[in-house]
Amino acid sequence: MKKLNILANDGLAEKAVVNLKKEGHQVFTEHIEQEKLADFINENKIDVLVVRSATQVRKDLIDKTPGLKMIIRAGVGLDNIDVEYARSKGIQVENTPGASSRAVAELVMAHLLGGIRFLYDSNREMPLRGDKDFKELKKKYSAGHEVKGKTLGILGFGRIGRELAKMAIGLEMKVLAYDPFIDEAELEIHFFDGQKVKFKIQTVSKEEVLKNSDFISLHVPAQKEPVIGTEEIKKMKDGAAIINAARGGVLDEPAIVKALDEGKLLFVALDVFESEPTPPVKLLMHPKLSLSPHIGASTVEAQERIGDEITHKIQQLAGKAH
Ligand code: NAD
Repeated sequence: MKKLNILANDGLAEKAVVNLKKEGHQVFTEHIEQEKLADFINENKIDVLVVRSATQVRKDLIDKTPGLKMIIRAGVGLDNIDVEYARSKGIQVENTPGASSRAVAELVMAHLLGGIRFLYDSNREMPLRGDKDFKELKKKYSAGHEVKGKTLGILGFGRIGRELAKMAIGLEMKVLAYDPFIDEAELEIHFFDGQKVKFKIQTVSKEEVLKNSDFISLHVPAQKEPVIGTEEIKKMKDGAAIINAARGGVLDEPAIVKALDEGKLLFVALDVFESEPTPPVKLLMHPKLSLSPHIGASTVEAQERIGDEITHKIQQLAGKAH
């Protein structure tokens, strides 16, 4: 088995670092600035570059690092890597698509359950005036909602969309899903006592999801055009909510601000932004936005699963490279 040099430039779960070192590989975990990356890779004879979404692995970097054998995206979206170009140069490109689905779906549920009870706003207001205006704030947040019996619309019925559907069904919600590439999906929900329940969900048109959902969550890959903009919002129920933990740009940010200001939407939750990592302050200050800084996949459990998958892929490469 060949010993490999690995640079995990955007971090890697400690367990994976320990396991890889145990196998005799050298693992660098410091973050190297983009402009110094090529030199670092060449000087340290890096075989495997592991990145999350921060490091850009573009044509220019690939051209300067002919010794690179594998690029691994610790996560799903490959939009920060010139995948086809890397492959054309004989570099293996991998990601860990399934490992973080549960984590993202749980964050969406957290935004949803928090949103319909206004927790995003009461967590801002209580520290400022909870001692003086307790009764006023109690009144302000007393018209919350419950999810039971409500309809969750899911746009994009892949791994995360389905994981979310399973949780929604567990909360006795109805699920409507739209996905132009999927007609039907079978979900298996596992309970703590070993019972399992299977659900078949037939996807419906986007129009039906927009028209009939109380809450809509986006789970599509990065797109050229927003999946929800002004026209789509018009078709939604009054007082509905939208959650975007997919990619910045799939939801038109100015359109949602307008819809929130006009009272069309109850709230919007954003984990991802058009201009990461510097979303506009005006957006961040909006009182009807439930916000998180792109942490969908970032749970300890998901990072460990990602680390395990990466370890496995690197071990496979080490075996082949022997
Ligand atoms: P996936 O590939 O399993 O599913 C995406 C689904 O979207 C596919 O079934 C595809 O057919 C469908 N789709 C494509 N274009 C569509 C459109 N215009 N309308 C409706 N459906 C469409 O991907 P996934 O693992 O479920 O990830 C979904 C999204 O979540 C990706 O954008 C990914 O980058 C993002 N993500 C975010 C985080 C985070 O930290 N917030 C973490 C992981 C993934």
